Amino acid sequence: MDDSKQSGGAAAGPQTGAGAVQDLRDRAEAIRQVAERFRKEEAAAWGEEIERTSRIPEALWQRLRELGLCRLTQPVWAGGEGLPLALYFPILEEIARCHGTIRMMVHAFNSLWRTVGQGREEQQREWIPKVAAGEALVAFALTEPDNGTGIDLQTTATYEHGRFILRGRKHLITFADIASVITVIAKTDASLGRQGLTAFLVPQGRAGMKLEPMPEMMGDRGCSHAVITFEDCVVEEHEVLGEVGQGFDIALHGFLDQSRACIAQSAVGIAQESLEQALAHVRRRVTFGKPLATRQAVQMRLADMAIAVQAGRLLCLDAARKFDEGLDIASEAAMAKAFAIRMVGEVTDHALSLFGGIGYAVGSPIERLYRDARSLWFEEGTIEMQKMTIAERLLAEARRQERAARR
Ligand SMILES: Cc1cc2nc3c(=O)[nH]c(=O)nc-3n(C[C@H](O)[C@H](O)[C@H](O)COP(=O)(O)OP(=O)(O)OC[C@H]3O[C@@H](n4cnc5c(N)ncnc54)[C@H](O)[C@@H]3O)c2cc1C
Repeated sequence: MDDSKQSGGAAAGPQTGAGAVQDLRDRAEAIRQVAERFRKEEAAAWGEEIERTSRIPEALWQRLRELGLCRLTQPVWAGGEGLPLALYFPILEEIARCHGTIRMMVHAFNSLWRTVGQGREEQQREWIPKVAAGEALVAFALTEPDNGTGIDLQTTATYEHGRFILRGRKHLITFADIASVITVIAKTDASLGRQGLTAFLVPQGRAGMKLEPMPEMMGDRGCSHAVITFEDCVVEEHEVLGEVGQGFDIALHGFLDQSRACIAQSAVGIAQESLEQALAHVRRRVTFGKPLATRQAVQMRLADMAIAVQAGRLLCLDAARKFDEGLDIASEAAMAKAFAIRMVGEVTDHALSLFGGIGYAVGSPIERLYRDARSLWFEEGTIEMQKMTIAERLLAEARRQERAARR
């Protein structure tokens, strides 16, 4: 199983060269059109049902499977389309314009398998085809209620008699209740810093792993999140994901970097939808005898929104292209995410203002977009966390250049 298959890059199909790349582009565009049709013809009704019931209808999982939207990025050997990120992003943008929970479902299938994609061949062969078939979800458990993220984690995995024993608590874990397996990041050696973290694949229902549902969130209604408590939960050696001590790399570079770019691209989708909703509204709404759209002050706002959305889209594309080339995108993904969450905040603010008071009513299109956008602040880390990554890279590069100049 080579890296091109794991990253789902353009080399995943049987053909090689320019013809194969064009085929993949054509295939991705055809899928984007499927997603666009779904958005225009079906998504509103699914969204209304989710808002009304605060649940994901079973038929929606089935519908996403039928449309092939669960198997976009997984490698071809596993039954996926093997789309590189740059070709997946226009599809994700269409989906992000739908209800926030529909975006979360598609993201969960097309992004979280990458944690397992860092594992041994048996682990990949066991789980990735099931994800691509839409039969299994992988959840990712990093965040803790009582500690910071990264080396501040306090969930421990102690090696005892040839097995690991997990003890600790995680929270905010999306789809933990319905996932078939959970990637858990725990501390195996407190003295080793980043090298002291290890990733484990813990199947659903394992003794000693207790799940409790969390209260409903502000947005992405219907999407479940859980608190997970590990009380002497036994994990076998073969359930270590990758190697002991690789947890930080698996979490951050194997999964979070590309997922941050996906969250940024989702912000672009929500912002684009908000812009178009606002545009339609200001063309309809007449004040003082003229449509709002004829006022220059309103036009300036629309232009600012469009500039911001396009800038966010291009930052995402830059991160995606570099990821597809196999480059380290820690900085690019963090920049895209930091920019895009601020951008979608401003664009949804503008859109709400342009809608006037009626936009604030529960059930208005802007009200839901405004709420759903706010979850993106947190998924895969806050703006401060992104800036820490960017600054860390800047300082490391400055030190490297200084050392090189001294030689
Ligand atoms: C909808 C949703 C889904 C999620 N899904 C998952 C999931 O599936 N798996 C998972 O593991 N997690 C998940 N999370 C958790 C999410 O990743 C975290 O909420 C996020 O990373 C922020 O961490 P925290 O909540 O611990 O905030 P805290 O660490 O408590 O931070 C609070 C604030 O302080 C700032 N801050 C913290 N430390 C510093 C510092 N050293 N310097 C400066 N500022 C700092 C933060 O930027 C933030 O603004 C989800 C969260 C949400 C809202």
